[in-house]
Amino acid sequence: MSAIELIQYVSEALYVWIFVLTAWRAIERPRLASIEIALLFGAATVVVAESLVFVVLGVPPPQVVSDLAGALLLLLPYILLRLVDEFAGVPPVVLHLAELALAASIIALFAGGQPAPLWVVLLAVAYFVLTTLYVTVAFVLAARESRGSTARRMTAVAAGSCFLALDIFVAGIGAVLPGAAQPLAMLGGLLGLASGLAFYLGFATPDWLQRSWREPEMLAMLERADDLAAQADTPGMIRQLEAIVSMTLGLPHSFAMLWNEAESLLEAVPEQAFSPAQLEAMGASMSPDGDLLRVKPGTMLAGRCFELQQPIYSENPVRDDPAHADLYRQAGVHAILAAPMRAGGERFGVLGVYTQKPRLFAEDSLGRMRLMAHQAAIVVRTRRLLERNAELRGQEEVSRLKDEFLSSATHDLKTPLTAIKGITQWIRRRITPGRDINADDLRVDLGRIEAAAERMTSLVNELLDISRVQMRKPLELTQGNVDLASLARDVCQHHQEMTSRHEVRIDEASQPVTGRWDGPRLERVLDNLIGNAIKYSPEGGEVRVSIRKCTDEASQDWAVLDVRDGGIGIHAEDADRIFDRYERGRNASQLGIAGTGIGLAYVREIVAAHGGRVAVQSEAGKGSTFTVWLPLSGPKEGGSSPEPS
Ligand code: ADP
Repeated sequence: MSAIELIQYVSEALYVWIFVLTAWRAIERPRLASIEIALLFGAATVVVAESLVFVVLGVPPPQVVSDLAGALLLLLPYILLRLVDEFAGVPPVVLHLAELALAASIIALFAGGQPAPLWVVLLAVAYFVLTTLYVTVAFVLAARESRGSTARRMTAVAAGSCFLALDIFVAGIGAVLPGAAQPLAMLGGLLGLASGLAFYLGFATPDWLQRSWREPEMLAMLERADDLAAQADTPGMIRQLEAIVSMTLGLPHSFAMLWNEAESLLEAVPEQAFSPAQLEAMGASMSPDGDLLRVKPGTMLAGRCFELQQPIYSENPVRDDPAHADLYRQAGVHAILAAPMRAGGERFGVLGVYTQKPRLFAEDSLGRMRLMAHQAAIVVRTRRLLERNAELRGQEEVSRLKDEFLSSATHDLKTPLTAIKGITQWIRRRITPGRDINADDLRVDLGRIEAAAERMTSLVNELLDISRVQMRKPLELTQGNVDLASLARDVCQHHQEMTSRHEVRIDEASQPVTGRWDGPRLERVLDNLIGNAIKYSPEGGEVRVSIRKCTDEASQDWAVLDVRDGGIGIHAEDADRIFDRYERGRNASQLGIAGTGIGLAYVREIVAAHGGRVAVQSEAGKGSTFTVWLPLSGPKEGGSSPEPS
């Protein structure tokens, strides 16, 4: 057997093998594209079988048989063109021209006699080469628009078509230059083999190769899936999932639906606004905030995929889901591919794409979609577990802080109570029969009892306020004329007496800053802010309180209070949060500084009740400045505070 013969037999065997594989696939999943592919290699197989029979018989094939083989061969480019038309569309004029040329070539072949006249050969070669080159370009373009293994399979088919065109071209040259038949036959044989191999990789891709082609795209997908964790809400997560599907499959129209267990509905981000009639036709509704489209499981093809928990590929949604035919038509949906998101036996939703044309390698896309849906489900599940965990830990922390608050409140109450008890016992011991009690001493002691009782009253009032804050009830103010500067002076002095490591200073305004406020409540504000400034400066240092007046654009007068320290500061991410109940800065807990996260929530509530505002400017490790704006006229409907200056 010569080398040329060997090459020819190998490539023929390859074509027959591809036929077996693609025919099997077409029987398993009888779709137009898979049937056309099987027909393509079926035609090639008949030609191979025919030539083999006559080689074995040792006689030349009769005229009609070789004409038939030639006609079958001429069918190959046409079937390839139909395939391209299926998934990418071919202009009708090109299709008709190819049909005309095919018919003319076949007629000329049958009418031309044996051997075929040169013009018949040239006509057939021209038709074959031009059509196959058109197919090559179409597959190259489709490959550029696709991703991953689909793109590679398309490229392999393009290469196969190109080699086939060259093979026939070389055969055409052989017919024109009979002298060069030998080397051209060798070249033709090699091109035939190359086309067989490329078609094998494209149309009958072995599993191991598909897996290795998929790997990089799956890795890229997983990398992007990381961003899912950063999405704060359901619409964000849905959009991210859609971006991942579009990127991985290279298709613009993707959709993700997340399962809302509580409502027993699938939620999607709608691409467009739907009219009530459309919503009704879909059996869908919008979420109360209008962000999400909600669909019952089992509704439309995607809902059916979720209900059955099985991937779905429909080349004809109008036929497969006639109840919603109009919707598919309006949206130009001609093919749908969807896979359920499922992990650890839990259902998380559906991922899918829809296209204007059927997919050529639909089983390939469906396989990737299943993998993606599974990976996405794992990411969503992990994220939900983490969220649940954080929520539980948050609840534990809140309950711990509540306990702490209760115990410190009880402790605070005990101090004046002990004082009252001690002084009354002391007085009782002095009331002995026959002994005069010194009235001045008694007055002093009663004064101390009164002061302790007042301290208790103020503590109980504070506790009542805080319980109102906790129950989110508004505070009721008792307004009077209050001099903020003198109040601040007293509070500063009180705190200075309790610390030797800090210097508590006050910068007062040149004139008194007096407003219609609730004095005891503002005292709580000052007490909390100055107390915090000292507590969160564990190394000691200066705490500076300043008070000034300002007038805003609406000519409203404001008192502005700053409490500045050089302590541990606050991380930017915590700055807003710390004004909420039971919220603490991360560095406060890390440094083991005790607290309950209630004080600033109380401060904000008091300031807001006065029509004012509180804010903080801080840098972790460098200190903080808390600023309070209070309208001098007291609380006012619809009043607003000026921006920090
Ligand atoms: P507590 O001090 O009891 O934790 P607060 O509501 O008064 O509760 O304060 C909330 C959090 O704000 C504190 O836990 C701390 O992290 C942060 N914070 C408040 N004041 C300061 C300050 N002057 N410097 C640094 N962090 C502060």
